Amino acid sequence: MAQLRSVLAKGLAKMNIFSPFCLWYFWAMNLMGLTDQLEQQLSLGKLLPIMEQFYTIQGEGEHTGKAAYFIRIGGCDVGCHWCDVKESWDASIHPLIPIEDVVIQACSVPARTVVITGGEPLMYNLNELTSSLRQKDISVHLETSGSSALSGRYDWICLSPKKNMPPKEEFYEMADELKVIVHNRHDFVWATEHGAKVKRNCRLYLQPEWSKRDEMMPIIVDFVMANPEWNISLQSHKYMNIP
Ligand code: SF4
Repeated sequence: MAQLRSVLAKGLAKMNIFSPFCLWYFWAMNLMGLTDQLEQQLSLGKLLPIMEQFYTIQGEGEHTGKAAYFIRIGGCDVGCHWCDVKESWDASIHPLIPIEDVVIQACSVPARTVVITGGEPLMYNLNELTSSLRQKDISVHLETSGSSALSGRYDWICLSPKKNMPPKEEFYEMADELKVIVHNRHDFVWATEHGAKVKRNCRLYLQPEWSKRDEMMPIIVDFVMANPEWNISLQSHKYMNIP
């Protein structure tokens, strides 16, 4: 196995980072178990398991309708039963990509905003990625459940607390936006509890969970009309049929 890795590594050094061989290499390394060197690079945040990266329109929350480059990092230990990106949960099936290459891709689009999402992106050290993006004058937004410790620096933090693994206390002061997904009636209690903890100017959003949108929407409308400090967020990208 060590010999195979060595051969692959030598080949890798000669290849373009986005070549099929290179991507296959990182995927194979994931499956075979990480080498010490890769593990170190991962813990330093120099490599990250990237599930997908794409240029689109932000569909949710405060920045709805704005163009942004999305970086979706694989791996999530929260386990919401209604999750619509369950394929993100297992980090080992996503290729480890050097952050330099992620930054090059993010800089290749006209918009100067990157949204880092997951999975739960804070399962990883995001210091290197966010500082590299900010050095390129890119505004860095984060979407997190707040269940893992913060790493990295952000221009906008969207906190979306999940019942399975509530946020760490530090996030209530840092969140610029609180987005609570409404799957059932108890989620209004959950939203109110968290709305009371965030800083005064944090924007408050209720967003219907997609599979329950028809059932929950009228209740959300009534709630927001009675509690106007809250706003409605829709997964507008799904209505627009874009990623
Ligand atoms: Fe899915 Fe997000 Fe919940 Fe993780 S935190 S299970 S990615 S909805």
